[in-house]
Amino acid sequence: MKAKEIAIIGGGPAGLAAAEVLSLSGHSITVYDSMPTLSRKFLLAGKSGLNLTHAEDYTQFVTRFGSACDHLRPALDAFGPQAVRAWAEELGVETFIGTSNRVFPNAMKASPLLRAWVRRLESRGVKIRTRHRWIGFSGRDYLFDTQEGQMTIRPDAALLALGGASWPRLGSDASWMPWLQNSGVNTSAFQPANCGFDIAWDEIFQERFAGAPVKSVTATSDAGTIPGEFVISCHGIEGSLVYAHAASLRDQLATHGKAALVVDLMPGRTLERLNQDLARQDGKASFSNRLRKGAGIDGVKLSLLRHFAGNADLTKPETIARLIKHLPISVLKPRPIAEAISSAGGICWDSVDERYMLKAIPGLFAAGEMLDWEAPTGGYLLTACLATGRAAGRGIAEWLKD
Ligand SMILES: Cc1cc2nc3c(=O)[nH]c(=O)nc-3n(C[C@H](O)[C@H](O)[C@H](O)COP(=O)(O)OP(=O)(O)OC[C@H]3O[C@@H](n4cnc5c(N)ncnc54)[C@H](O)[C@@H]3O)c2cc1C
Repeated sequence: MKAKEIAIIGGGPAGLAAAEVLSLSGHSITVYDSMPTLSRKFLLAGKSGLNLTHAEDYTQFVTRFGSACDHLRPALDAFGPQAVRAWAEELGVETFIGTSNRVFPNAMKASPLLRAWVRRLESRGVKIRTRHRWIGFSGRDYLFDTQEGQMTIRPDAALLALGGASWPRLGSDASWMPWLQNSGVNTSAFQPANCGFDIAWDEIFQERFAGAPVKSVTATSDAGTIPGEFVISCHGIEGSLVYAHAASLRDQLATHGKAALVVDLMPGRTLERLNQDLARQDGKASFSNRLRKGAGIDGVKLSLLRHFAGNADLTKPETIARLIKHLPISVLKPRPIAEAISSAGGICWDSVDERYMLKAIPGLFAAGEMLDWEAPTGGYLLTACLATGRAAGRGIAEWLKD
């Protein structure tokens, strides 16, 4: 077959994964990105320890994508957690399975992996054009802003891998949404995912505890009961345990106008045991002393309990014990999408065929976080971006062959 021109617009993990698959197809591949360097969000992800994928049982793994599981399944079956680890190792980056089965590169960082990846792509002839911002269609052409002014391209096939809407300063600002909508592509509005939530702290609580971790607790919402820890922020709460419940809290707020994360501050002790331990305390001792001695609760946990006790009678041991085990932490609203780890929403699945081609725009494909799926943190996001990027790459190769 005659070599074709393929444009990959967006050089994040999804775009590069597609470029990788296509780099072996004999076609001419060019990756365009608006930023001065590629994959800025991937690099940022590596700052706090790059969680590449997750080593839990695969049948459990695929359920983490909720209602998008069936759509993503073929891509994940072809490039799942084990394939992600093998791919990283092929690029010279060994990985290990950490706590709660999360998989990280030994060095924890993203930069060595990205460097080796881009080097391999370039050695296979993939051309990289940074500072090329796609700004929409001009008839059948794709229009770009570049340092030299505007330019257009008309490739034989193109992939959009422009990311979601979180952390827009890293490049993915979702400005593409109206251009695709005008071309007949269905989209659902982006919403924050894996995000913190606002709480109306009083000034004293905020000053004293902003930045304090709340450790060794469990938290319950519609997402289930999950052990872990979270952090008090000046706006409310954030951290891995909050992110795990974020979709559920966000949807509850949207449907009912209110939502609460129910926290067990002392998961190691039963309600009965706490009740007995608190009842044994000297009634004349201060509230904080009774809680510290009877239940091991002090500092931020004690203040959280006071903050969310409402009108509960804190002289009664059974009331305090119940609050320690089921403290409803009411949240007001999600933090803005610009602060979220990822986003929900994007291109609807009914607008994409099984090759990841946009039904309304033959020859144009889409992959990664710009599609309408969400998942918790834990390596699921990157795995699905890599998997959909590769699936779209295969889709392009097949479509060009057809
Ligand atoms: C702080 C943080 C930590 C994270 N940690 C993890 C983690 O440990 N594990 C995990 O699985 N996930 C993590 N994620 C999520 C993960 O990084 C993203 O899901 C993933 O990068 C999305 O990949 P993508 O290729 O779809 O989009 P992106 O990575 O967003 O890449 C899209 C690319 O498209 C470019 N682009 C956008 N618009 C245009 C345009 N108009 N023209 C040209 N180029 C454009 C952007 O510059 C960007 O390079 C983290 C995210 C954040 C913010």
